[in-house]
Amino acid sequence: MRTNERDRASCRGCRKEMQGEAYMYGNNRNGHKVNHYGGYVCSSKCDFNSSLDLERSMPGHSDRDRRLSCFSQESFERNWINDHQ
Ligand SMILES: [Zn+2]
Repeated sequence: MRTNERDRASCRGCRKEMQGEAYMYGNNRNGHKVNHYGGYVCSSKCDFNSSLDLERSMPGHSDRDRRLSCFSQESFERNWINDHQ
């Protein structure tokens, strides 16, 4: 069975198309992680940047933000730093 277009996903950070089947994304097999706000990311840099970009557009934030909110920072650290799996 061929992979349908709609099953493809791209990294929220760098827009690189993910390899593999959609259902496998985010389970560490290919190094993909799920971003705090949803979507797949291929690296810690992309994870951080995509969360920060989104937060900058939220009420109470601005594009001067340089750090993640506490919740997405926690999620980011779980993804890349405190990964005990
Ligand atoms: Zn990426």
